Amino acid sequence: MISVPEPLQPGTMIGILGGGQLAQMLILAGHAMGFRFIVLDPNPNCPANLVGAAQITAAYDDQEALAKLAASCVVVTYEFENVNADSVSWLEERVDLPQGSELLRISQNRLREKTFLEKLAVQVSPFQKITTENDVLEAFDALGELMLKTVTGGYDGRGQARISRTEQIPDAFAALNQAKTEIIAEQFVLFEREISVIVARNRLGEIRCFTPVENLHKKNILTISRIPARLVSEVSEQAQNVAKKIAEGLELVGVLGVEMFVLADGELLVNEIAPRPHNSGHFTQNACVTSQFEQHLRAITNLPLGSTELYKPAVMLNILGEHLPLLLEKLKDLPPEAKLHLYGKQDCRTGRKMGHLNLTSDSLESLLEPLRKLGIWDAALLSKML
Ligand code: AMP
Repeated sequence: MISVPEPLQPGTMIGILGGGQLAQMLILAGHAMGFRFIVLDPNPNCPANLVGAAQITAAYDDQEALAKLAASCVVVTYEFENVNADSVSWLEERVDLPQGSELLRISQNRLREKTFLEKLAVQVSPFQKITTENDVLEAFDALGELMLKTVTGGYDGRGQARISRTEQIPDAFAALNQAKTEIIAEQFVLFEREISVIVARNRLGEIRCFTPVENLHKKNILTISRIPARLVSEVSEQAQNVAKKIAEGLELVGVLGVEMFVLADGELLVNEIAPRPHNSGHFTQNACVTSQFEQHLRAITNLPLGSTELYKPAVMLNILGEHLPLLLEKLKDLPPEAKLHLYGKQDCRTGRKMGHLNLTSDSLESLLEPLRKLGIWDAALLSKML
C-alpha cells in the first residue's frame, strides 16, 4: 500500500539550488500558493533574488552553505542540472529532496541518459562512446554523419560539433577533448521537426503531460516554440506516452522536459531530458490552466497535480541579449496578445536569455505579420513556425 504523503502547508519554506530565471518563475508561482523561498546561488544579483527570495550566496559545493540551506527549509528542489550531484546526494540525506540525486546523475551525463532510455525501450539516435580520435572515425564509418558532444557540462549547444566529412574530425575532436570530459558520438538525425513534452509526476504516481510543443533553435538556442506542435494526433499521443513512460521509469517527482526529434515517418527519437521546468514550457504561464512552475511545486509539495488544459494555441519567443534593446524600444508596438516576461538580469549579452514573450491566439498565423514587423526576431524563423 502506498502511504499518502501529507500536502505541505502554506507558509512552508522551499529551498532552491540555483537562482536563475527558472527559480525566479517558480518563486513567482509559489508565492501565489502561499509558499516561501530560499535559494542557494553564488551570484548576489541572481534573478531569484529580484523577486524577494531569501538567499545564501555561496558556491553549490560549499558544505556550510548546503547545511544552512537544509536547516532553513522543509523541501529542496533544483532548477538546473549542472549542480554538483554529490552536493545533492549530501543534501538528500538531510532534507526532503523529491527529485532525488539519481535523476540528476542520469540527466547530467549524456551516456548514462541514453543508456537509461534504451533500457526503458525508449528510442534514441544510435550513439557510441568516444575516447580517441580514431573512435570518431570508426563511429563515422558505422553511423554516418555525426553530432559529437561532450558527455557532461554542455547546454544550449555548447560542447557540440557536427561532423559531415572525415576531414572535420581532428579539429572537432581536439576542441571537445579540451574540456577533459568524456565524449559521445550520436548519429546526426535528419528530423522533420523538434518537439518537447513537459510531463509531471507526484509521489502518488499521478502523471500529467502538457500539450506537445514544437521548437525551433538558432545556433542551438531555443528561439521559438509553437503550441500545439504540428503533429498528427497519433504522433502527438505517442509523444505524450513516451514522456509518461520516462516519468514512470524515473519515478519522477516534479516536472521533466523531454526533447524529441520527429522523423518524416512519425518515428520519435528522444534527444534529451531535463529534470526541471523547461524553456519550451514557458507558454504554460499564459496559455494553460496550470503553469509548469505551479505544477512542479504541486508535485514536490504533495498537492494534486493541476489541469494541463490548453486555453488557446500559443507561441513563445525567447528574448536573448541581442533582442532586448530593440524590444524595449518597441514595447508600444507589441501585439495586444503579448505577455512579456523579463528576468531583470543586469548583464545583457548576445545569446543570454533575458526574458520571453508569450502570445496566445486562435489563429497563430495571424501573429506572423505583427511579429515580423517588429524586426526583433529572424523573419525566416518566424515564417517557418507561424
Ligand atoms: P542538445 O544540447 O542535445 O539539446 O542539442 C541542441 C540542438 O542541437 C538540438 O535541439 C538539435 O537542434 C541539435 N541536435 C542535437 N543532437 C542532434 C542530432 N543527433 N542530430 C541532429 N541534430 C541534433
